[in-house]
Amino acid sequence: MNGLLIKNALIVNPKGKYKGAGDILVRGGVIARIAPSIESNGETVIDASGLTALPGLVDMHCHLREPGFEYKETIATGTRAAARGGFTTVACMPNTDPPADTPSVITFIRKKAAEEGAVRVLPVGCITREQKGKELAEMGALRAAGAVALSDDGMPVADSHVMHMALRYARSFGILLISHCEDPGLVNGGVMNEGYWSTLLGLKPITRAAEEVMVARETLLAQALDTRVHIAHVSTEGACAVIRSAKARGVKVTAETCPHYFSATDAFVDGFDTNAKVNPPLRTDADVAAVKAALKDGTLDCIATDHAPHHIDQKAVEFDVAANGISGFETAFSLAYTNLVKTGVLTLDQLVTRMACNPAAVLGIDGGVLMEGGRADIVLVNENENYAIDASGFVSKGKNSPFDGTEVTGRVVHTIAGGRLAVEAGRVVI
Ligand SMILES: [Zn+2]
Repeated sequence: MNGLLIKNALIVNPKGKYKGAGDILVRGGVIARIAPSIESNGETVIDASGLTALPGLVDMHCHLREPGFEYKETIATGTRAAARGGFTTVACMPNTDPPADTPSVITFIRKKAAEEGAVRVLPVGCITREQKGKELAEMGALRAAGAVALSDDGMPVADSHVMHMALRYARSFGILLISHCEDPGLVNGGVMNEGYWSTLLGLKPITRAAEEVMVARETLLAQALDTRVHIAHVSTEGACAVIRSAKARGVKVTAETCPHYFSATDAFVDGFDTNAKVNPPLRTDADVAAVKAALKDGTLDCIATDHAPHHIDQKAVEFDVAANGISGFETAFSLAYTNLVKTGVLTLDQLVTRMACNPAAVLGIDGGVLMEGGRADIVLVNENENYAIDASGFVSKGKNSPFDGTEVTGRVVHTIAGGRLAVEAGRVVI
């Protein structure tokens, strides 16, 4: 293999030394050289004129559905969808069947990913056995098997004593806990955000407090134990305020939001659109504004997709019984570029920090930077391309997107993952 040579890119690289116009030489899975001009020497040349090169995006929260739900997604299809979205590393949540609460499931996912994956896959293990919120999973064994973090995502750890113990053990094992913040008592069977639209549509509401009290609990427990915690998919103004105040007190909390929480509101549920059913639910304009402000001031460190593909059969049903989730890999960058960069909330440099550098730092992995000798994880985007999202063309098995038909700006063109060209001109080529 002679490697790849990217010519004439504009390099945006918040954590790297090299920025600006330049060429990138890839050889043997690593970046061999970055310089203003590199002569080709038999490599495959990618002409990146008019394109912007970013470190490969890092998604710290997705669902690949394997093992157990291969009709929704597999590691093969999910990682190809991730690559098409510009992601070169993804951390997959453990709510599979069986759940990733034993080392053998972690080992299975890593083996499958090595054999069939298009991008790097880092499995997240369970906090509790079978995600039942009662007994702790074997954290040390999960860590030893290769779990990058632990979470019961999809389910909250409702019992505060269990979470308190989990944080103590996680501290001693040096592993990150990611909390899905949802108080089941406050959710009380609700299916969408409480407000104007839930009233109009006659759907059972979920108070924002269901998320916020759990965010408050996690920050207080982390403070009391002087340990880290990461909050998944923050969606409300109040949750942003709780995290901001905890950070100001020096609590070791980090947090993520997802593109749908700054790109859509509960008005998307109008017409009982089950593709807009997600957990936590889509909120209001005020929450969207608060999430954007929290991304800008650093209260929210990361943007994760919460890619949650579903089969049509789980969505083509009544709203009350439809599955929660949005197929998010293939729209994340465009939605973020359109709603954050084009609108002046973030610079592209800041967006890359939240979609690549910070997720890598929170997970404690390499990546999120373009540097000589570093992983050849590179995405090339066209900042000027406008297009309409077409869910039917997703590589993911999940076509469930409330953004089908939405006009966006900024498109992923090429993705190089671990030195391999995975996506060329928007098409998956591996
Ligand atoms: Zn979740």
